Amino acid sequence: MQVRTIGIALVLVAGCATNPVTGRSELALVSEAQEIEMGKQYAEEVKASIGLVDDPALQAYVSRIGMEMARSSERPDIPWQFHVVDDPAINAFALPGGPVFITRGILTHMNSEAEMASVLGHEIGHITARHSVQQMSRAQLANLGLGIGSILSPTVAQFGGLLSSGLSILFLKYGRDAEAQSDQLGFKYMLDQSYDPREMADMFVTLQRTSPGGSALPTWLSSHPDPGNREVVAKARADSLSRDLSALEVNRDEFLRQTEDLVFGTNPREGFFRENLFLHPDLRFQIRFPEGWAGQNTKQAVIVQSPNQDAIIQLTAGSGTPQAAAQQFFNAQGISETNVGNTTINGLPAVSGYFQAQTQQGTIQGLAVFLSHGDLTYQLLGYTPAERMRGYDATFRSSFGSFGRLTDQSALNVQPARVTLVRVPSRMSLASFNQRYPSSIPLEELAIMNGVETSATIAAGTTLKRVR
Ligand SMILES: [Zn+2]
Repeated sequence: MQVRTIGIALVLVAGCATNPVTGRSELALVSEAQEIEMGKQYAEEVKASIGLVDDPALQAYVSRIGMEMARSSERPDIPWQFHVVDDPAINAFALPGGPVFITRGILTHMNSEAEMASVLGHEIGHITARHSVQQMSRAQLANLGLGIGSILSPTVAQFGGLLSSGLSILFLKYGRDAEAQSDQLGFKYMLDQSYDPREMADMFVTLQRTSPGGSALPTWLSSHPDPGNREVVAKARADSLSRDLSALEVNRDEFLRQTEDLVFGTNPREGFFRENLFLHPDLRFQIRFPEGWAGQNTKQAVIVQSPNQDAIIQLTAGSGTPQAAAQQFFNAQGISETNVGNTTINGLPAVSGYFQAQTQQGTIQGLAVFLSHGDLTYQLLGYTPAERMRGYDATFRSSFGSFGRLTDQSALNVQPARVTLVRVPSRMSLASFNQRYPSSIPLEELAIMNGVETSATIAAGTTLKRVR
């Protein structure tokens, strides 16, 4: 949960490069070496801040499928890497120069290896066609990776922002043309590996049916602008192939076996809200945030914002003593402090103090508390524009004073929902299946994750997913 920033010293030298996919020469501000270096650094930040699913067999499976596709692409020799990130959002991301991430959320909504190959192929397409680099050439490079964290300590630098530089690249939207090109490339890559390309249209149907879940990450639908009827285009593309597609690979059962037991939705062990009370079973603490403040729990931080968005409370954790953490924070350039001193909060040793800092948004003031619990030191920051500090001071103090050990057994023992497999014993409707093998999600969601209609009839012997 250490907050990190990356600064990449990009040398802005414009030059011409040949696009690996089109073979055309294009203006590029980023060389291939820089592209690869950037991707590697962003990938490390994604791994540190979102985290990977702790399942070596699953990671190896996804990596093997991705690598086979990438190695037969137009850029076989760049350092490809494929990972499953531990996030409930339904999405997949490509970073410049080789790294591809898919979420466990999207995996729980796929129903075959061929569907997964269609998404991996699409992301590989963004990398082979150098979309992010082209985007960066057009957009201001200076906005990516440069100048982050230069004003203050990294945690305050992005007043009001949830994401650091590496994650903000995940919000980079490609244009519709780039999306259409990636769909086309992904189709080609999956066909090259003998996957049934009709599965690509099925995947798009599932993605269209999903709705945003509880994640800080964007969804596929928001980060991949629809180039227009992408499932219709994918279907037409498959239909236009003058060959027998029935012999091609789908690998439904193998895929389902590999993704069985995946956590479905948000994992409450990593913290959850009970109204304005935030409970963290794995780290065994709780804190009450001000009533009515909206919150977001990410691997890096818990951040809640006042209803009129003029004040923020941010909780992060790191190593070292509270004294050392406080010293580092208050001594940071641009920070001035008052009333710093040792204290205890619900028996936990702490250091607290007020601070003032200059940001691009003006002068902010806040309360900072550093306290020790378990093996970690928690940093609590509450901050607001300087002229509003008087109004928020009591709110910050009351919230920070509620930080304490979690002792509620039901919260300590909470377990995430997981995907399990059922072999349907006889022909039945999805509704009867749901009655006989109940899930902790609504029937509509069960239908979407299984890639069938709510009114579907399921043949005997079919393997279906359920959520428990
Ligand atoms: Zn895309």
